[in-house]
Amino acid sequence: MQSPSVTSSILIVDDNPDNLRLLSEVLTHEGYEVRKATSGSMAIKSVQTLLPDLILLDILMPEMSGYEVCQQLKTNPLTTAAPIIFLSALNDPFDKVKAFNVGAADYIAKPFQFEEVIARVRHQLALRSAQRELETLNSELEERVKERTQQLELANAQLLELAFQDRLTGLPNRTLFVQQLEKKLFKAQASEDYGFAVMFIDCDRFRTINDALGHDAGDQLLKNVAQQIKALISKLNILSRFGEDKFALLLTEPANQPAVLQLADDILKSFTQPFIIRERDVFLSISIGIVFANVRHTQPEHLLRELNKALRQAKLSGRGCYQLFEPSSRSESLQALDLERDLRTAVEQQAIAVSYQPIVNLQSGQIAGLEALACWQHPTQGAIQPGVFISLAEETGLISEVDFLVMKQAAQQLQTWQTEGLVATDLSISLNISPKHLAQNTLLRQVDYILEETGLRPQNLRLEITESSIVFDTEFSISVLQALQERGLKLSLDDFGRSYSSLSALQKLPVNFLKIDPSFVQNLESQPLNDSIAALIVNIARIMQMEVIAEGIETLGQLTLVKELGCELGQGYFFSRPQDAQATLALLRKKARFF
Ligand code: C2E
Ligand code: MG
Ligand code: MG
Repeated sequence: MQSPSVTSSILIVDDNPDNLRLLSEVLTHEGYEVRKATSGSMAIKSVQTLLPDLILLDILMPEMSGYEVCQQLKTNPLTTAAPIIFLSALNDPFDKVKAFNVGAADYIAKPFQFEEVIARVRHQLALRSAQRELETLNSELEERVKERTQQLELANAQLLELAFQDRLTGLPNRTLFVQQLEKKLFKAQASEDYGFAVMFIDCDRFRTINDALGHDAGDQLLKNVAQQIKALISKLNILSRFGEDKFALLLTEPANQPAVLQLADDILKSFTQPFIIRERDVFLSISIGIVFANVRHTQPEHLLRELNKALRQAKLSGRGCYQLFEPSSRSESLQALDLERDLRTAVEQQAIAVSYQPIVNLQSGQIAGLEALACWQHPTQGAIQPGVFISLAEETGLISEVDFLVMKQAAQQLQTWQTEGLVATDLSISLNISPKHLAQNTLLRQVDYILEETGLRPQNLRLEITESSIVFDTEFSISVLQALQERGLKLSLDDFGRSYSSLSALQKLPVNFLKIDPSFVQNLESQPLNDSIAALIVNIARIMQMEVIAEGIETLGQLTLVKELGCELGQGYFFSRPQDAQATLALLRKKARFF
């Protein structure tokens, strides 16, 4: 029990002056600050002037009973907190019950023993002080939550701006363009009306101009190009800076072919005049690829792939012209079917291999973990990029098997290394899980199977899930992530910032790491550090109490900057490219220190 605190104040209310004096002497002697009141009304006035820490209240008083005083104090929000101990010669259980009913904290029967009074007073004061501490903690917590929400809202707004806008030209960037394209396709599918077209407008030999005139002039030129194209199109259309010197144009209005080709012609013609950059005439030509949407285009990538082909065709035909995409020849669609069949066979024959890329602790420079990446060596076409076969696997429903194949091999590999004592027992392997796989009910069973088969600890496995606003909205996916965390697995959100999922969704996600997309790391050297998206992501991670992994570190300069930003972990060609198990083991055994 707490010892009497000099600062605790007690109000004694009793119409009997002898009681009042005696109690007051005892409690003052105990070190309390004592105030006295000889009637109910005096007590109420006194409490309102200064709230005591405890009230000792007589029940039987002539003008106003202790019950009434208690009731009044308890119904007033300003005085309700002070605990009240009744003092009374009424010793009937009925009176005691009534006392508690009107809000008393305790009851002492007269004639009282001072030891008992002191013990009960101490007890009530200790309770009161614990309650106060709790209130302070609660209000501090509320304050912190409020602050955090405000910080997140601010970061959200900044991220929105940075994530969707090209800084140089002020045009929508690639991410926003792809989103708009997706929406447009979705609408077209719903209404079965595909009356729209898309263009890629690419500057010819821009690099040469950039090298000759310098980057600043190159930037100015790109701004002028953007303005010139914008002046020729209606406001309803969406012009985006899609790549360094590549623009994408979504013609949202119902388009007939002659009108679209006429527009392409007008844009090309406008480039016959020189741009004036630093008082010099600069001639720039462009090439245009055009695709008309149709029922075969179910995803933006389908349109983008054809746009690239059309653009390549335009460049091959001598640049400075446009080229309409010719619907794929029969052989092309057959090729796509072949690839799908081959992937199915590769999965059946477990012919998907794994390569490993180190994840480096940016303080110690040592390997903290490995990321397992799927590799597919096609029997006739050679290595196929994960970017190609992973999306094919997602489209064809093979993804959960591909993920599982990689998971099995990587976990078995780690187990072998561990049992042979070749690696530290806390080395973790990160596995990529497609959001499409997460949305199925196979993942938990697969993870349990792997843990059981290999005897690895859950901490040895980390799962990376690519940020995707659509999938994470489902309660089911979130519940799977929670179940994984309950099993002790750590989770990373991969490619964070690339497709921009809303921060409110991020708040719901139980993840431990944010992986900054390589594109943001690679942009670091070209702008002030504090203005970078990477800095914003680190900030978000701090607020959410997550750690940050910077992906795609290729140069010492980038490494220095991500360290300066406070990223805990890093990954990239600067340290090591993904390699097979043997080369990875050699790296691990060397206990490589990368800086
Ligand atoms: P990710 O999970 O973000 O993996 C990192 C990718 O960045 C890898 O590409 C890696 O080779 C590449 N990378 C690493 N360091 C650098 C660097 O310094 N510069 C650049 N430019 N790139 C770097 P990779 O192997 O082509 O994989 C591409 C994506 O395919 C992965 O991105 C991941 O989303 C997906 N993927 C790979 N394996 C699997 C898998 O088993 N299952 C699933 N669902 N997806 C996978
Ligand atoms: Mg990954
Ligand atoms: Mg990534």
